[in-house]
Amino acid sequence: MKSETQVVVIGGGVVGASVLYHLTEAGWTDVVLVERKELSAGSTWHSAGGMHTLNGDPNVSKLQQYTIELYRTIEARSGQACSIHLPGGLMLADDRERLDWLRMAQARGRYLGMDLEIISAAEAKAMFPLLDDQYFVGALFDPVEGHLDPSGVTNAYAICARQAGAEIYRHTWVQDLRQQADGTWDVITDKGEIHTEHIVNAGGLWAREVGRMIGLELPVLGMEHMYLVTEDLPEVAELNAQLGHELPMALDFAGEIYIRQEGGGMLLGTYEQACVPWSPQTAPWSFDMELLAPDLDRIAPSLEIAFKHYPVMATAGIKTIVNGPFTFAPDGNPLVGPIRGVRNCWVACAVMAGLSQGGGVGLALANWMTTGDPQLDIWGMDVARFGDWATLGYTNVKVRENYSRRFRITFPNEELAAGRPLHTTPVYDRLTEHNAVWGAGFGLEHPLWFQRPGEEPVEEVTFRRPDAFPVVAEECRAVRERVGLTECSNFAKYRVRGPGTAEWLQGLFTNRLPKVGRIALTAMLNPEGRIVGEFSVARVGDDDVFLFGSQAAEVHHSRWFLDHRPPDSAISFEVLALSLVGLSVAGPRARDVLQSATTTSLATADFPFMSFRRVELGMVPAWVGRMTYTGDLGYEIWVAPEHQRALFDLLWQAGRPHGMSLFGFRALMSLRMEKRFGTWFREYRPIYTPLEAGMDRYLRFDHDFVGRAAVDAERERGPERALVYLAVDPDPDEPADVIGDEPIWHRGDDGWQVVGWVTSGAYAHHSAVSLALGYVPADLAVAEAAFEVEIIGQRRPARLLTEAVFDPAGERMRA
Ligand SMILES: Cc1cc2nc3c(=O)[nH]c(=O)nc-3n(C[C@H](O)[C@H](O)[C@H](O)COP(=O)(O)OP(=O)(O)OC[C@H]3O[C@@H](n4cnc5c(N)ncnc54)[C@H](O)[C@@H]3O)c2cc1C
Repeated sequence: MKSETQVVVIGGGVVGASVLYHLTEAGWTDVVLVERKELSAGSTWHSAGGMHTLNGDPNVSKLQQYTIELYRTIEARSGQACSIHLPGGLMLADDRERLDWLRMAQARGRYLGMDLEIISAAEAKAMFPLLDDQYFVGALFDPVEGHLDPSGVTNAYAICARQAGAEIYRHTWVQDLRQQADGTWDVITDKGEIHTEHIVNAGGLWAREVGRMIGLELPVLGMEHMYLVTEDLPEVAELNAQLGHELPMALDFAGEIYIRQEGGGMLLGTYEQACVPWSPQTAPWSFDMELLAPDLDRIAPSLEIAFKHYPVMATAGIKTIVNGPFTFAPDGNPLVGPIRGVRNCWVACAVMAGLSQGGGVGLALANWMTTGDPQLDIWGMDVARFGDWATLGYTNVKVRENYSRRFRITFPNEELAAGRPLHTTPVYDRLTEHNAVWGAGFGLEHPLWFQRPGEEPVEEVTFRRPDAFPVVAEECRAVRERVGLTECSNFAKYRVRGPGTAEWLQGLFTNRLPKVGRIALTAMLNPEGRIVGEFSVARVGDDDVFLFGSQAAEVHHSRWFLDHRPPDSAISFEVLALSLVGLSVAGPRARDVLQSATTTSLATADFPFMSFRRVELGMVPAWVGRMTYTGDLGYEIWVAPEHQRALFDLLWQAGRPHGMSLFGFRALMSLRMEKRFGTWFREYRPIYTPLEAGMDRYLRFDHDFVGRAAVDAERERGPERALVYLAVDPDPDEPADVIGDEPIWHRGDDGWQVVGWVTSGAYAHHSAVSLALGYVPADLAVAEAAFEVEIIGQRRPARLLTEAVFDPAGERMRA
């Protein structure tokens, strides 16, 4: 065993093996993998081996596509048989909503290069004659679905990695991890110590326990999962002879069931409602290549559905029942990337669909480790999407919710109930009294909209316009015509101060730092010139700055800042989280309301647009910024939590004579869309550049900043893509607005083609127009171009707009 190496990958399941392989592919060959038992000894060996490309997140779909395409390559290079079967797969819809969802998935597939087909229930039966088509309304067929041998694939990765120089130590148990002062690691195993620059936790079933070796509580939980394999069935043999090939796989949403051919019989697995975590506190190291006791009673409700939908299953003899554990994160997607504040510590765990995702996870992580950037949009998998709030208890309830809803639709306006409320701010009860309908993000409750008095504060879930639509319209009207009050605590807030702060931030930010007392908007780029952050920067001293950004990116952004802080500097970087909470007042009468609560002059001459100052409102000391995301005259007011209720009462009293209304996040999204304001994770993501995103007002070329050379080069050659702003004509009979991820069609010389995708959409209530933002090739972003956006299977005409539909000159904000 080596005593020195560049990387130690802990865990030889399909994920760890993929990471090792991809590191060697990226040119890092002094790398080792340490496995406590045999390769694939965790959850991998008893996996059903199914693989498919579709995922709710199109970026994750791309990685799943990559994974499946990779298998033939590693099989050929390693000489290790992987038993790859690609009979294609059906997703069976039992109701209209599910079929709508499949239509939307098909549409997304168009720009991902996927060849997906919507077929009728009768056509599905022709492909998979074992199903009873009376239970279905249609299906989606994906030709790139199948199954393979999980151990074969793990070994194929391992052989390819070894061929390139990697070493693998089996029967070697990592028992402790110790970091040295220079950031390198001592990996303590039962066979000796290895000193290494980087560690990768690919511990699968034990990833949580490996994390604990360094005091990290990863939000990952094992769940028991069962599938059964039938005896050989004559019906299967007959159908194989008749069709000339194996039966396709099928996902049956109604029963949370997957079913496929296995040899001459059928394999059926289910995500049961009465699901059971495995080792909820600590996974035992004594657990070997074992299976858990099957519990047919638990899966009986799903089996009853299966017996109706696939009558042959009711009489088939069961050959085997597999009950094994595998791991989930609270949202069901993997945890990948570097750990904030811990140098050279990487994770690749909670991969619940290792055969579909393992290749993409390995590729992204290897890119990240070797180049400093995943080179792919992997936000959906980034370990930074969870904060410390994702505790063991939270993870337990969310994973159980996620498991039991594995194939269930989550509607765009749906808020899942488990683990809530977790974080609330002091005005939570006040807003609840006002009939708030709550949503949650990053553990925090935020008001979505305010139901009318006397009506129940719930929202019907739908892909189309919800029942909240007219109420949100009223909230928008209040803001544009009078004045609205909302809570804005759900931003990430940071305070950066100490000698050297200004110089450091200036080197990271594309815009000039504002003067003291002012706010500036800025982007932050990686060396390749892609957007890794977008912030409002409020400067309160020469070396004292508040930053406001996306709350969901709090760990992601703070990880970046901490990684880039100059060594041994005295700069303090503080994540303020809920130690600073906010309310926002917006609308033409916003100043009148606020002025009645303070002796500080808020006249534009004294407190112009983009000012940021300490102001006393009544008895409440606050930081007040003159800006809002509504694009109207407005203020964001930041206070310590103990002041927030008093501030709310003060503003509400002061606002009533001006016709003040409460408004929520839904109205805010409508208002920002009519101002053409982009947002983080939608328009601004690490796959786009600031020139593509049209962030011209965020860029100043009077200083050097990370990514500047790449931006200069892009200015020379011109951006490849452009963010376009579209007015869409929804279906007049059944209006549905754009949600995000819909394909954009364009009519060119060769007719209509999909040329891009939507990033955000909303109905702009004040301007009475349905709007979308999205990316298309830059040369197509011309006013006369003919576009269409595909909404729930219907292509709707879309017109390119060259300026915001509301107040394009920004006079209202500056008034
Ligand atoms: C019944 C069942 C059916 C499934 N069906 C499918 C399917 O059809 N398709 C699909 O894509 N996925 C399926 N899965 C999920 C799939 O098995 C997992 O996604 C996959 O195995 C995850 O791989 P991994 O490498 O992350 O973890 P694991 O396979 O758990 O590997 C982790 C490895 O790390 C080793 N290890 C941990 N700690 C240490 C340490 N301290 N020192 C040394 N070694 C250590 C372990 O021994 C283990 O070998 C199924 C799972 C189950 C249980």
